[in-house]
Amino acid sequence: MVINSNSSATPASLRKTHRGMILSRIQSEPGISRAELARMCGFSEMAATRIVRELLTANIIEESNAKGKAAKKHIGRPKTGLRIRKDGLFAVGITVSAYHSEVSICDADGRLCASDRLENVSLDSVSEAAQFYAKALRDLIVSSGVNVDLIVGVGVALSAITAPERGEIVASEYFGWANDQGQFCREIQQIIHLPVEIENISNALAIAEMRFGAARDVADFTLIHVATFVGAGIVSGHRLVRGDTNVSGRLGHFRSDERPLICTCGRRDCLNLSAAGFGILSRMGQLDHLTFDTSKLTFYADSLLAALEDETAADLVAEAGAQLAPALDCIGNLLRPTMIVLSGYLGANKDYYRSVKTTLATQFDHNPKTSFRLVRGTISSVEAAALLALHSLCYSDRLDYDRFARVAEQSQGETYG
Ligand SMILES: [Zn+2]
Repeated sequence: MVINSNSSATPASLRKTHRGMILSRIQSEPGISRAELARMCGFSEMAATRIVRELLTANIIEESNAKGKAAKKHIGRPKTGLRIRKDGLFAVGITVSAYHSEVSICDADGRLCASDRLENVSLDSVSEAAQFYAKALRDLIVSSGVNVDLIVGVGVALSAITAPERGEIVASEYFGWANDQGQFCREIQQIIHLPVEIENISNALAIAEMRFGAARDVADFTLIHVATFVGAGIVSGHRLVRGDTNVSGRLGHFRSDERPLICTCGRRDCLNLSAAGFGILSRMGQLDHLTFDTSKLTFYADSLLAALEDETAADLVAEAGAQLAPALDCIGNLLRPTMIVLSGYLGANKDYYRSVKTTLATQFDHNPKTSFRLVRGTISSVEAAALLALHSLCYSDRLDYDRFARVAEQSQGETYG
């Protein structure tokens, strides 16, 4: 039995925890009053008011008045509430996938402010790739005019198994990287000089959808990322289920119909081959090989994007969606999520989504009123990287409050001094 003793909690760490709770609540309920905040977080009104005063002083939140848009949207709320200052804090992101090789910036409310798509990135070496992304990100920060002192940190979302608590890439069958021992994150930190948070794309998308998107405030859900292959991010009680050695969510290796193709694991009956892009491209006659080839990732991505624009491929897309349905039925029975979010270029495609939904209803008696709701994701993997940084380094006990309070104090000194 694990006994959760609170012996390590100091007044300073408690204060950080409470600040993270208050800030999260203001973000999810713009216009909220101090009294409501105190009630919802379980604090005394005095304690809530003190933290609110700190956050106002550091320019992280602001008061919204009745004339403001935020107040109008929330009829029945008190006239003066609190909301996140859009230009208060920012987060930046790096997305490393065959579909998106991009750097991005978003504001504290999760709105994408700027992004840049990178061409011809060499992924042969971990350190060269990291330096390339970091320099592109530094250029984007400069050209966007965002004050680097207001950036909470860097989120990295990539197609790899990661160990986020150690900031490591464990393995990427996709890029052929293994055990980088934190090198990717270290290289970025040496160029950007900000904290770096790393996650695989499915988990980063799950976090982003939970805080800012389709699964906002949903405690139990599973996000399925479908593009060339299939992956999943599982959230239970608002927390990611990582599994032993961080490899949960390998939905792509669930058993399915046998295909002539060969998966990265060597099998012919993986869901990766029947329910995702690789199988669709093969059935369209676009592949001259049967074994998944990591040197052709960009080709797979470009071809799948073109296929999704091609009406003649709609039947194959629908067929792939039907193949995913049995796996979702299993997830529904095993985890009982409130919601399953279909994400990624293929997952969020309307023909694919419709086919999954219809197959669930007709073959598995799926009823969204008594089981999970099936929805399409609303967040792209480019946004997810920066949103991951916001989630981890702004709306949590890891917010570096003292740093931002100092910046606010200095800027006030410049204005009035
Ligand atoms: Zn497999």
